[in-house]
Amino acid sequence: MINFEEMGFTPGILKAIQELGFEQPMPVQEKVIPLMLGDAGDIIALAQTGTGKTAAFGLPLVQATDTELNSTQALILCPTRELCMQITGDLTDYAKFTGKLKILAVYGGASIDNQIRGLKKGVHIIVATPGRLIDLIGRGAARLSAVTTVVLDEADEMLNMGFLDSINEILEEVPEGRRTLLFSATMSKEIASIARKYMTDPVEITIGTKNSSADNVSHAYYLVHAKDKYKVLKRIADFEPDIYGIVFCRTRKETQEIASKLINDGYNADALHGDLSQVQRDAVMQKFRMRNLQLLVATDVAARGLDVDDLTHVINFSLPDDTEVYTHRSGRTGRAGKTGISISLVHLRERHSLQQIERLVKKQFKAIPIPTGTEICGKQLFNWVNKLENVVAEHQEIEKFLPEIKEKLAGLDREELLRRVVTLEFDRFLDDYRHGEDLISPVSEKEASFGRSGKRESREEYPGNYTRLFINLGKTDGFFPEQLIELVNSNTKGRKVPIGKIDLLKTFSFFEVDPGYADDLIAALNNATFDNRRVAVEVAQEKTDRPRNEFPQSRPAKWADRRPEKRSTGRTESKGRDFKRESKFGKKDKKKYNR
Ligand code: AMP
Repeated sequence: MINFEEMGFTPGILKAIQELGFEQPMPVQEKVIPLMLGDAGDIIALAQTGTGKTAAFGLPLVQATDTELNSTQALILCPTRELCMQITGDLTDYAKFTGKLKILAVYGGASIDNQIRGLKKGVHIIVATPGRLIDLIGRGAARLSAVTTVVLDEADEMLNMGFLDSINEILEEVPEGRRTLLFSATMSKEIASIARKYMTDPVEITIGTKNSSADNVSHAYYLVHAKDKYKVLKRIADFEPDIYGIVFCRTRKETQEIASKLINDGYNADALHGDLSQVQRDAVMQKFRMRNLQLLVATDVAARGLDVDDLTHVINFSLPDDTEVYTHRSGRTGRAGKTGISISLVHLRERHSLQQIERLVKKQFKAIPIPTGTEICGKQLFNWVNKLENVVAEHQEIEKFLPEIKEKLAGLDREELLRRVVTLEFDRFLDDYRHGEDLISPVSEKEASFGRSGKRESREEYPGNYTRLFINLGKTDGFFPEQLIELVNSNTKGRKVPIGKIDLLKTFSFFEVDPGYADDLIAALNNATFDNRRVAVEVAQEKTDRPRNEFPQSRPAKWADRRPEKRSTGRTESKGRDFKRESKFGKKDKKKYNR
């Protein structure tokens, strides 16, 4: 194995490499750097992002640039603004100790005047998106006549984005004697045709297998009913409290819808798509990079160029139309030696597309059973217990409250205290899942045997009956589901009473509760008031014995809006579900309905 010192780099570049902490060349660097520092001509490198390809072409490029000249000597084309900025940043790092190298990123969506001014000052290396560069060439601002090296980075992405004509046009502008390097994750017909047209006897390098995905990415799928996709997505997030991933959708609309639903349901998620302004996109990407977001719901186009190395999950909420896009998506996890998983939510009609993708990546995808409520609760509970075990409790502020807290809880022994603390946390999750329908894949249990037992939560665990209660309040009292839930919660001493169907009528209403809570709740509510009215509650004449899973969701849709902020995944960090939101009817409005 060759090391950086033996490659022929100048001391300045070696110093930069050392400062960046690169100890050994990565495989693509081992292969590309000696060729570039030698006299080899054109190079095609099939390598995914995350393999170290920027340094593979960037280090030799920086070394080869003559900073005494004022001309543009190298051109790097890439698909997105983000990638432009990232490459420019990396090259600037490589050039830290090698004189006054001028590198400029030019891309669409930013002021062209500033870029023109930058180019006029003289630039050694231009890093550009194709469309903007065409503009700049047209305005006479970008001059490519002295370019000796052209790098097409993520060439397949550029073609996917429709840049073929622009690339052709640009390559016509660059002197024929140049060296051309083409980096692509996949080798498609279009890539081969660019190579034929603009490259001379290129050396072909493949990192990993051609058209195959990284070895440390496992591929799995949930076979789901189309209507259950969103619920399954939530289960994935709930089952993986530390998830950090991208959820790929097909359209901007779908992306926004899914992100909005997740946000409403309290997950730490946001959307990234082309309908957002550049400023909004930058803000979202920055949040995601900083890990202030756990789930980024994105379109393929918008996610391009987002350089995040250590995703735990790639979730294909919708399979891509173009199977090759799958390779790009899944290549975003399992980077830098880490393992990752790419999960697809597939409905029956999509099985064929899945098989096509399996053939492309040359791997068989594993069917996995949808996590059951019990499994999710267990996972969340132990995640929380682990955090409790490892928390460093050294806030001075807590000290002053401790004596009083100790005194108040003196009657509870350690076991009881523990039970209560755990119950407080666990109940919230159990609440979410105990009444939810079990999501069954349209797939046999045999097929769905991945890692776990495949054992399903039995419906018997949560018996199917609710007790239906009558209450003497209705819509004309300003009494809506929110008020009902608030009323119940404020009279149950912190216990979460599972509520089923709510039927609101004009002057009275019915609602269903878990039978185990009914008596206590009736007693408590009969002592309560609502807007100065005495509340009266009793068991309704008829009892609902409809199986719970007959309801599309056992709780009214409004509950979805009432979760704590950013419950997510790290739900254990949420402050508990304290439905304190203002009702749709402000106090003034409510008065209108008072009798
Ligand atoms: P890239 O494929 O160019 O996006 O690089 C992926 C990541 O690998 C970047 O964070 C680089 O900083 C890092 N990297 C590149 N070369 C090396 C190396 N030789 N040793 C360690 N890390 C590297």
